[in-house]
Amino acid sequence: MIVEMGKGATRQQVDHVVKRAHALGFEVQLNLGTEKTVVAILGSDTGKTATDVFAVLPGVESVSRVMKPYKLASREFHPQNTIVNVNGIKIGGQKLVIMAGPCAVENEHQLMETARAVQGLGASIIRGGAYKPRTSPFSFQGLEKKALKMLATVKSELGIPIITEVVDIQNIEIIAKHADILQVGSRNMQNFALLKELAKMRHPIMLKRGYAATIKEWLTAADYLLAEGNQQVILCERGIRTFEDSVRFSMDISSIGVIKRFSHLPVVVDPSHAAGHFAYVPTIARAAIAAGADGLLIEVHLNPEEALVDGLQSLNIPNFERLMAELKPIAKAVGRSI
Ligand code: PEP
Ligand code: MN
Repeated sequence: MIVEMGKGATRQQVDHVVKRAHALGFEVQLNLGTEKTVVAILGSDTGKTATDVFAVLPGVESVSRVMKPYKLASREFHPQNTIVNVNGIKIGGQKLVIMAGPCAVENEHQLMETARAVQGLGASIIRGGAYKPRTSPFSFQGLEKKALKMLATVKSELGIPIITEVVDIQNIEIIAKHADILQVGSRNMQNFALLKELAKMRHPIMLKRGYAATIKEWLTAADYLLAEGNQQVILCERGIRTFEDSVRFSMDISSIGVIKRFSHLPVVVDPSHAAGHFAYVPTIARAAIAAGADGLLIEVHLNPEEALVDGLQSLNIPNFERLMAELKPIAKAVGRSI
């Protein structure tokens, strides 16, 4: 249930609504907007409770039921766009955010030189996998702690934030010490035990879409991350499984519009994992920016031929440079800058 307070509602009136909800056994989250406060009343019984219970309280303007399965990620709860702030870099604002780097951290030289190059070409966040969720147990699983140290060196030497993936609960703490954004991969989008633990963190978290998940399931998974009061959640569309097999996954461009309509969370697009081939990365990246994405997550490798993971879909530096130049006029055309 969503309780919208009137414009002049006092803090005491808001507190009264919260108290009443707690007394009825519900949980509560507040969106203290600049114009008005919205109170989300959460719990399995909200459907049975009369909306009048809250409508009569002083300062309340309206009470409505959210019929969608997700609540905290919805625009009903949070009408204004959320802007996630990563050490001063704003995701969801006018300026697009480009996150780039290798699929996996392989060695100091590869990571540092890739990071330097992409930063010079306009990337403002570096990606690099330390713990890799691989389809096969016999594939390279990542350098783990060693990779985290290398990411930390890049962060301190280049003064640029880092995003890396968390694949299990045991490693949340160590990754959180080094990374600025914690990434939840496609395969873990509905790993609810992991999401619940991550919800306790105060880091920005990027939730990738499960490749067989509907947008509703994706936004409902985001509710897990928002449930403990952390509002720093970024969504990442990375393509879904369809019958088409000339690309690795099919980019669902329409999800950008759906997310923008029904959610307040910023959404970035990963063209690399959707494409599966470097030739299609620019096509998807350009379309994503034109469609209104807030940024991109792109795999770049100094020498894709030698990449231990995802070499085929990685851009080399000249290709990344070309793409960045192509994106500029598209960003401008849709009122964004890059
Ligand atoms: C990644 O970004 O490193 C990754 C493994 O992507 P996804 O979870 O989308 O497959
Ligand atoms: Mn990859």
